[in-house]
This record gives sequence, C-alpha cells and structure tokens, in this order.
Amino acid sequence: MSRPSGAAFVWDPTIASHVYRDDHPLKPKRLVGVYETLRELGAFDAPGAKVLAPRAATRHEIERVHAREYVDAVMRASASPNRDDYGQWGLSMYGDTPPFKGMHEASLMTTGASLVAMEESLSGSVRVAVNYSGGLHHAMRRSAWGFCIYNDPAIVCATLADRGMRVAYVDIDAHHGDGVQKAFYESDQVLTISLHQYGVIPELGRTFFPGTGNADERGRGKGAGYSINVALPAYTDDVAYIRAFDEVVPRLVDRFRPDVLVTQQGIDPHFTDPLTNLQLSTRAREHIVRWFVESPYTWVAMGGGGYALDAVRRSWSIEYLVMLGAEIPQDLHDPDPPVWTGNERRTIDTLTDRAIKEAVIAAW
Ligand SMILES: [Zn+2]
Repeated sequence: MSRPSGAAFVWDPTIASHVYRDDHPLKPKRLVGVYETLRELGAFDAPGAKVLAPRAATRHEIERVHAREYVDAVMRASASPNRDDYGQWGLSMYGDTPPFKGMHEASLMTTGASLVAMEESLSGSVRVAVNYSGGLHHAMRRSAWGFCIYNDPAIVCATLADRGMRVAYVDIDAHHGDGVQKAFYESDQVLTISLHQYGVIPELGRTFFPGTGNADERGRGKGAGYSINVALPAYTDDVAYIRAFDEVVPRLVDRFRPDVLVTQQGIDPHFTDPLTNLQLSTRAREHIVRWFVESPYTWVAMGGGGYALDAVRRSWSIEYLVMLGAEIPQDLHDPDPPVWTGNERRTIDTLTDRAIKEAVIAAW
C-alpha cells in the first residue's frame, strides 16, 4: 500500500490572535509570519497542499484529559480574569500562565485544531496534517502549567487510544513533555518519547523548566518502559542532537510499531531562542522532519514552544515544505549554525551519549 502524499495546514487567524499578556513570551501571532511566508512562496497552491479550518473542541473532548472543576475554573477566568484568585488552578496574573479574557474559547480552538488535524491524518487523504497553534504539552489534569491551558497533544493521544489505536508520541520541544508523559504514565498503549534540555543551566545556576524528564522516569505498572526521556545537556548542538534523535527515536518507534505517530514540534531548541539553552538550527529540524515524513506511520503534527519569532517563522515554514515534499529556499535556513569544537565538543558528546544510553536502557 502506498502512503498518501500532501500536507494539510490548519489555519484561521482566530488561532493566532489571542494575547496571554503584553509582555508574555508566547505570542500566538507568531503563526501569522509562518502562514504569510508559506503563502508568499505559493506553498498552499502546490500539489497536495491543503488549508483546513479549525473548530472548537467540545467540553467532552477536553474532559477526556482534564478535570471538570479545572475546566469550570478556566471558564470563570476566561469570563472574568481579574475577579478571583485562580492560583490553585495554575493561573496567575504575573506568572507563567496568566488568566486572560477569552482564554477558554481560544484554547478550545487550538485544541479543536489539533483534533481536525488528527481526523484529516486518519482519513488517509494526506501524508500529514499539522496544527502549529497546538502542542501545549505542559498542561496538567487539574492545572495550567508552562503557558499551557488545555493539553491538546494528550487529548489527541487519548482520543486515538480510546479508538483502540497504539500511539507513539514524539516531543522535540526544548522542554520536557511532562503533561503528556503524566497522562499516559501507566499505559503501554501510548509510548511517549521526549528529547529535551535537562538539569541545571551552568550560567544561571537554576534548574531548567519544568525540572522533570530524567531517563529514570520510565513509566509505571503496565506503562513501565513506555515513557522515554532523552535528557540532553544545555548547549546541545545539531551534531549531538541529530545523533540522539537517530539512535533513539527510529529504533524505539519501529519496535513499538504504532498505528499513529503524534509529534510535538516546539521550535524553542533553536540557538536564538531566548528561553532555552539548546543550540539547534533549521538543519537539525529538516533532518528530523524528513524522518517523520519517510516513516511508514499515519502522522499528526503540532507546534509547541518557540520564542524567537524569526526562527519560528523560518523553521516551521521549512518543516511544512518538507511535509509537502516541496523545495526549500536557502534563505529560510540559518546561514551559519553553531557547532562546537575542541573541549566543548567532547563534553557535549560525552553527556549526549550518556543521555542516549540511559534512554534506550529505560525502554520496555
Ligand atoms: Zn518549550
């Protein structure tokens, strides 16, 4: 059976128009730059390209992963962000995830957009469908966390699992995919693999967010060995990251043989990102997304973090062109990606090789 070709891009300006807070690093409007870049390149007129409208997720769909009381609290915060203290639900005015007017409705759309992408991929009409407004992987069952309100990747994985499918979730955001891992920690039906920066940031002396994601977090009970963590050192560059990806992801995903591959493609590992200390370039991303494209699995993709707006624009444009099988203009790529040499090279390689080994040993 031959794989379908083509790529669907879920888009409507409403999924890029909400504002967390004026000074907040997560700017949904960053997607406008991705969409406009692709439109100017004629990508959406290319063979196999398709733009899909999002829809609002239903409350029933949200509650597959989130507690009813939490959804009630988000609805109250959405209507009256200043009226109450929503701290017990992970929402605080000057914190990482502030309450803001319309947050419930905006989050229903970004979640529904991932469900639209999921249905499109399952229909077999395209190789992949992507929702770059989604990938909000930190949100917990009863709490907002790390800029994330409703956990759309967990909702997609749970919906697929409920239909009896085996799901491999691969998270290449700079941060640990903790909310998704937690949702399936005792399940062998959803394999979660997260590659992320881990540990104390040498320059700053504080622990990188969210602080979890060491290889020894490997799942529990029936799920033992089905939570995989590649805990990378700060300053991991393309060379080391590509080796980590190639040695862990194809091996474990192919061993698991999922019905569906779900990817979270946060682009905050980019070397210009202000919130992280990884050193990736567009080259590593192209390499990784090519593996996803060439894999034999039904595939649904989401965005995630990404706080250097021009890196977001160029990287996600490249990724969509790779999904389409279209040519990539050189000016979208980083001209001169950072690569370590000498002592730094040896240190990064040693720490990365240890992370690879620990991740593979932890697997079922
Ligand atoms: Zn992130």
